[in-house]
Amino acid sequence: MKQVATRTHTEQYDAYIGGKWVSAGKRFPVYDPSTEEVIAEAADCGPSEVDRAVAAARAAFDSGGWPQTTAQERGRILFRLADKIRQNAAELAELEARNCGKPIVEAEFDIADVATCFEYYGGLATKIMGHVNPVPDNALSLSLREPMGVAAQIIPWNYPLLMAAWKLAPALSAGCACVLKPAEQTPLTALHMAKWLEEVGLPPGVVNIITGYGETAGAPLVQHKGVDKVAFTGSAAVGKGIQKAAADTLKRVTLELGGKSPNIFFADADFEAAIDGALFGVFINQGEVCSAGSRVLVEKKIYSRFVEAMTEKARKIKLGPPLSRDTKMGPVVSKEQYDRVRSYQELGKKEAKLATGGGRPGGFPSGYYVEPTIFYDVDNTARIAREEIFGPVAAVIPFENETDAIRIANDSNYGLAAAVWSRDIFKALRAVKAIRAGIVWVNHMQPTYVEAPWGGYKQSGFGRELGPWGIEEYLETKQVHINLNEQPIGWY
Ligand code: NDP
Repeated sequence: MKQVATRTHTEQYDAYIGGKWVSAGKRFPVYDPSTEEVIAEAADCGPSEVDRAVAAARAAFDSGGWPQTTAQERGRILFRLADKIRQNAAELAELEARNCGKPIVEAEFDIADVATCFEYYGGLATKIMGHVNPVPDNALSLSLREPMGVAAQIIPWNYPLLMAAWKLAPALSAGCACVLKPAEQTPLTALHMAKWLEEVGLPPGVVNIITGYGETAGAPLVQHKGVDKVAFTGSAAVGKGIQKAAADTLKRVTLELGGKSPNIFFADADFEAAIDGALFGVFINQGEVCSAGSRVLVEKKIYSRFVEAMTEKARKIKLGPPLSRDTKMGPVVSKEQYDRVRSYQELGKKEAKLATGGGRPGGFPSGYYVEPTIFYDVDNTARIAREEIFGPVAAVIPFENETDAIRIANDSNYGLAAAVWSRDIFKALRAVKAIRAGIVWVNHMQPTYVEAPWGGYKQSGFGRELGPWGIEEYLETKQVHINLNEQPIGWY
């Protein structure tokens, strides 16, 4: 078993504000969820650091310096940041895996995606274009695209640096200034990246990173009068509060929230691929994925065989320390998340039948490890079928036919993602049209590309990230009317 080299010292981080490292006077501990040990301490920011960070962002934006940088220059800065991330990919992946518990191999994919995201939006900076509007008068009517201003960006812990990139890259490309708040559990890679921001040419104040808790750092940031836009990724419960808090100053808001995504298997699907797809859909990243295929809908004709095969393969999933290269599932991120997943495992035993898992695995004296768990004969009204668990827990639900499958799939408050498995392209496409979700995969689940839109229907949020859609969320449209007549208007 090849191990990646580990660090032993505890690093201390301040907040990154106005291009400087700023002490908040106190720090909070950051853990390695595989050992439960403190591996770093980060600034416990509160309202006064939020004020400073927003002031720095406002100054960078209002001075006109950053928004008036040429698109080429903004693009080059993002390319340089992407290069820096690639050059330091091994170190970042190790830090990410240690801090959030994901297997190192998955962390390496994440970091590669981070670099690609900055590169993509570096390229898009020079493609932001306005319009000439075909008005009927002797006038030139233009639509200009302008950066929205100062963006508050609040992110979760499951893909820490990738979520930071999904927020920062389009905002910077558009010419916005940012205040980023990583999740309290996983601030390390974003802080690590901050060390390079000046070097790649970002003026001070364009990106500020404040660490801290949701209530004391996140809430004042959302309420702050100096913020023009809030981009939030996290739970639906917190998202609802953010929308209310942002309403007082009518901030623009985008919400990327949770899901309870159906992964639908028709009897004519490629069986082996289907089993892999069901496991990958729900267990990748310990199931801590907003688009996790946590409702596994299986046609009755193949149901028993499917549950059996899925269970057999799930039992072989290799749990282990995040830094071991053969680990397929690490610990969940925190004690709080561990308790949450464990409580749903116990609830599931009352609501449905347990096929495998359902507890803490043996052989791990410490760390927030939970067994990959499959419940079957789950009714779609059960709490384990309706509530987002955000851990490795699958609810397998039988269905009769196509109509039944679509009915169950859409019977959810969420609408982030779904997948359909079938060799019948007509059936698959009918399902694609009928499913109310922002992302629908056919014969796969989870591939995500910076070129394609990401976001939810229903209570999975609104707004879209990634692709050209992502940059739209950071742009305002200004209409300009230029009168080409030399005579007075002649009304009075
Ligand atoms: P939370 O909603 O608990 O937290 C998300 C972020 O919001 C954290 O930075 C948190 O800070 C902050 N926060 C908490 N309370 C407030 C508040 N009152 N005001 C402002 N900010 C606040 O989600 P988790 O971190 O637990 O992440 C899991 C959730 O994220 C899941 O529901 C998942 O589905 C969703 N998610 C959605 C994605 C999507 O693209 N749709 C992608 C990834 C995750 P702190 O942690 O410091 O308390």
